[in-house]
Amino acid sequence: MGKIEIIPLGGIGEFGMNCMGIRFDDEMIIVDAGMGFPEETPYGVDISIPNFDFLDQYADELTALILTHGHEDHIGALPYFLKKFNLPVYASRFTIALADKRLSEHKMMDDVLLHRVEANDVSKIGSFEIEYIHASHSLVDCFSLAIKTPVGTIIHTGDYKIDETPVIGKGYDLQTLKKYGDEGVLALLADSTNATVAGRTPSEQAVIPAFEEIFSTTEGRIIVSTFSSSLHRLQVVFDVAHSFNRRVCVLGRSMLKNVEIASDLGLLKVPHNTLVELGESRTLDDDEIVYMVTGSQGESRAALWNMASGSYKGLAIEKGDTVILSARIIPGNDRAISRLIGEIYKHGGNIIEEKRRLIHVSGHASQEDIKIMTETVRPKFVVPIHGEYRMLFRHKEFIKNHVAGYNDENVILIENGDVLEIGKDYAGVVESFDVGKIFIDENGFDEIDYEIVRERKKLAFGGLITLVITIDKETKELKSAPQITMQGVAGIDPLNGFLKEAQESIAGAVLAMKPEDFKNKNLITENLRVHLKRFIQREIGAKPVIVPTVVEI
Ligand SMILES: [Zn+2]
Repeated sequence: MGKIEIIPLGGIGEFGMNCMGIRFDDEMIIVDAGMGFPEETPYGVDISIPNFDFLDQYADELTALILTHGHEDHIGALPYFLKKFNLPVYASRFTIALADKRLSEHKMMDDVLLHRVEANDVSKIGSFEIEYIHASHSLVDCFSLAIKTPVGTIIHTGDYKIDETPVIGKGYDLQTLKKYGDEGVLALLADSTNATVAGRTPSEQAVIPAFEEIFSTTEGRIIVSTFSSSLHRLQVVFDVAHSFNRRVCVLGRSMLKNVEIASDLGLLKVPHNTLVELGESRTLDDDEIVYMVTGSQGESRAALWNMASGSYKGLAIEKGDTVILSARIIPGNDRAISRLIGEIYKHGGNIIEEKRRLIHVSGHASQEDIKIMTETVRPKFVVPIHGEYRMLFRHKEFIKNHVAGYNDENVILIENGDVLEIGKDYAGVVESFDVGKIFIDENGFDEIDYEIVRERKKLAFGGLITLVITIDKETKELKSAPQITMQGVAGIDPLNGFLKEAQESIAGAVLAMKPEDFKNKNLITENLRVHLKRFIQREIGAKPVIVPTVVEI
């Protein structure tokens, strides 16, 4: 009797950083290596990734990295992962094309073994046999995984929604899932992102009528902003533009790149004579052009923000323009988007948001999709994955209340770092680790130590005080009054005598030191720091970073 261990490194109890180890005996495969968008961005952090050092204990067991799809929260940490563990990677052709882009940024294209796989291909990797199942999502060429092990079959949904009529490609391959369900599935690891949303997630085609209506009633320029990875949406814009005799100009680096990659692979079908370069777009009448641009989240470096607040390559939002924001608000971006909308209004543009019209649909399974998934696969155990704890919890509650045969024993909530052991008839968490995460500055692809981020936070909240004291080498007496300078410290008025009191207090502390204390300079420096810290806290309640220096002359 063997057992399987499911060990998530990220993506469970948080949004992003999806990464999971699946272990049997002394073999482990990894599913996805995603990045996250941490709250610490104001402190010079661009992205976060799971701390892959956690996998050191399994280093000899790692056999392969499987990517479910090409979203950044599933492949964004790929270069960092492969620098540490250079495993063979298995992914769809579009996922690989997107991964290539990231790997070439890190100049590591030549060192990586990429296996291009297609839906219904089966990879035999040690004791694991993995079938790639065509899944529908906001991106294309996405997989759910059927992972056969000697203990039983695990289904990992990846990100999914059940879309029978996507814009690009076929609907979700529920037939293959059902086949596994008939054979018997041990555990279903399922996307929880939309587990709080009732009903079914609409098909990607559902946005077409609203787009057609907007195009039919708009005379000015149309600017559509969406995620550059939302390929179904890009296809809709191309098709609707073509049928209303508008040409499409694509702006923004990631949007241009994705349109190029997806058309090269034949996934995106740009209608003949529809794509137009920026230069030529300027010669067209307002009712002959659509700009498809990056920046739906209000990103300050993206095309749309620049068009709204000033100009992007000479283009600016003006009266008569209609801007369609065809994307959801990613949590944390509300303010940036609000600011963006304000700028567009200020410059005379009209805005159409998803709140008002059906111009965006989610890429994730809502509750009724979750029900279909669970009933199709009929697993012994369900493990909610991908989402904040609230979503995982609601996923569990929904299944318990709406799918027969599921209860607290067979719907299992786990968190990052848990080791979930699954045998033929049981499942439970046997151990929990603290995996942690690593912050990255994407300019130099450098890691930023957590201590540095903490220091930056402290500086931002409390400001900085530098203290310099000069003492006589021989007598160990102060040669001059302690110098105190401050940056960004609240509550200190230079005129109210605070500085003088602080200087006197420090001078007193130096005087109170014994001659032998001065043998250890680090000790007196630290003592003075603590002394000043307590003094400031007592007097004004502030907690600045204090940097003391002791000079002997
Ligand atoms: Zn996704």
